[in-house]
This record gives sequence, C-alpha cells and structure tokens, in this order.
Amino acid sequence: MDINNCPSCGGKIEFSPKDDALKCVKCQKIFPVEHHKNVIKKSVYNDEEDEGYKEWEGSTRTFQCQNCGAKIVLNRFEMSTKCQYCNTSSLFPIDELPGLKPDGIIPFKVTKEEARKQFAQRVKRKLFISRKFVKNIPNLELGATYISSFDYSFYTYSTYFGEREVERHRTRTDGTTETFTEIRPFSGTKNHEFSDIVVETSDKLSQSEIAQILPYNYSEACRFDTGFLKGYSVGYYNQTVDTGLKRAKDIAHARLENMISSEYSRVVSLTVDTKFSNEKYAYLLLPLYFINYKYKDKDYLNIMNGQNGNVGGKFPISKLKVTLFSIFIGLIVLGIPLMVILITSILK
Ligand SMILES: [Zn+2]
Ligand SMILES: [Zn+2]
Repeated sequence: MDINNCPSCGGKIEFSPKDDALKCVKCQKIFPVEHHKNVIKKSVYNDEEDEGYKEWEGSTRTFQCQNCGAKIVLNRFEMSTKCQYCNTSSLFPIDELPGLKPDGIIPFKVTKEEARKQFAQRVKRKLFISRKFVKNIPNLELGATYISSFDYSFYTYSTYFGEREVERHRTRTDGTTETFTEIRPFSGTKNHEFSDIVVETSDKLSQSEIAQILPYNYSEACRFDTGFLKGYSVGYYNQTVDTGLKRAKDIAHARLENMISSEYSRVVSLTVDTKFSNEKYAYLLLPLYFINYKYKDKDYLNIMNGQNGNVGGKFPISKLKVTLFSIFIGLIVLGIPLMVILITSILK
C-alpha cells in the first residue's frame, strides 16, 4: 500500500513496530503492510535494469549532512532535516540517486519507548560503566535508520591437498612395539553450497561497531515494501555489490578450510583452491537506532539493534573502575614474577 496520509483524517502515516503495520499518528487507524517471507536473490552479474528501481528512485530522496558528510535516503515525503549521526539539523537534499533498490528488509521490532527502556537495562551490564550514569540516564535522542547489508549465496567446488600426522607402530627385534608419527599427504575435492553469508555495511559505522550489536535474525526478513520505511530513513551504503562479494568469498573460504580440516585428524598443513559459481545476492535493510545524548558536557553516540535491542558504542565509563582494574592487572602482571623470584630465593 502506498499512501502517506491517512484517508480518514489526513494524519501522517508511519510504520509502527508494535503493530507490525502502518498506523496513522493522529487517529491511530491501522493499515496492514504485506509481509512476503522469501526474499528473492538476484545474480551478481546481471546488470539488467531492475523493474522496481524506477519506483524506488521516484519514492525517495537522497540527503547529505553539511556537518559530518553522512548520506541518507529518505522517503520523498519525509521532511526531516536532523542528521542522526551528528545530531545537528544539517541535512540538505542532494542530486544523487538513492543507490540500489532494497530486495528485503527486517522491519523494526523495538519501539522508541522500548528502546529507551532497553538502553537503561542493557548499559548496566557494560564493562566499567559509570554507576552515576546508569542511575540517572540523560535525555536520549533516538534516530531510527535502516542500515545496509548484502546477503550472498553461491556454489563452491574446492580441490585441496595437505599433510597430516599419522600414528604408526613398529615391532622391535625384542618383541616390544614402538609408536611413532609419520607425515602423510592427503587430497580431495569438496562441493558445498552457501546460502546466507551476510556482509553488513554502513558509511558511518565501522565493521567492529556493527559487530557489537549483531546478530540480526535473517529468518524474519521480508520482501521490501516502501511501507516499512514510512517514518524512517535509510543509511547510504558505501560498498559495492562486488566488494561485499569479495568479503563473502573470504568468509566462505575460511569456513571451507575449517570443514575440510575437521574431516581429517591432526592436519599440519592444508591448501584449498575454491571455484565459485551461481553467485547471487539480496540487498537487505536492517533496523538500527542511533542514540545521541550529552553526559558531563560530552557528546555520545551509541547504537542499538532495532530487532533485538543489543547496544553498542562507547559509553560513559567510571574512571575509578578503570583505575582499580588497571591496578589489579598490574598486580597480577608484576606479582607473578615477584612470586617466582621470592620462591626461588627461598628454595636456594
Ligand atoms: Zn487518521
Ligand atoms: Zn551529520
């Protein structure tokens, strides 16, 4: 359904995570969004003009932040000027295409109210977190954004060779047996299909920052519908399908090495050569909250997984806790050699 205003009262329509449907912000009327479960993947090498692309291009606008440079894609009817990365009102429309049309989306599950509650709950468990901060959480500015990911699938055919240790026995002349190890070569081939290797990407978040809020449950991904975007923005992706594919292949290759070496015992060396075919991908959007706040005159930017509430980023930490911990570690590091010196000098 592609409406932006409520047919009954004219109010703005937004996606409501609580109802998993569109909702009028004024009269609360609910409008369903279609949830097609299986996201269709397309060939990595198929350059054909995607049919839905014109619609995606027509229904969105690309903005850039004059302050921090971030690019985001907004629904054409969204009037926001606030940048979620740096929390300033510096967004201006730019004459740039919105990039790839999404194939699938994991809709927001955590509402803004829940996000605030979850944040307060989860920061408590963070290492060295300031107790004062936990007791008195400042006003949180939430920005709801979809970040990008590429979900790859392909077939692999690998040839491999390696060496492994084998235990051997030999009878000595006096009748006793002797055990010794021998290095033996092995080789083989392996066919394996990978169906979901996901590479998350964002132009403003590093891979290690994204890793803090993983995992996303990809079984909840739906086929893309612009309805899910109403009230939300989309982070501009900074990776091409090809660079993501290279990373996905590296991940697959590492998994294949593990699979093959686990089929043999005591592997000492292994070389795997893999050929890939039928490479496909889906461009998926993942729900994420940017959480901006000020604490002791410092600006903080944290992130939250909009599906399961995991939080990441740098939090206000207690300097006292860090100092005590450093002293503790120092004592262990210094203490062990001191003990050794002490004990050896006593034993002398
Ligand atoms: Zn209404
Ligand atoms: Zn900005």
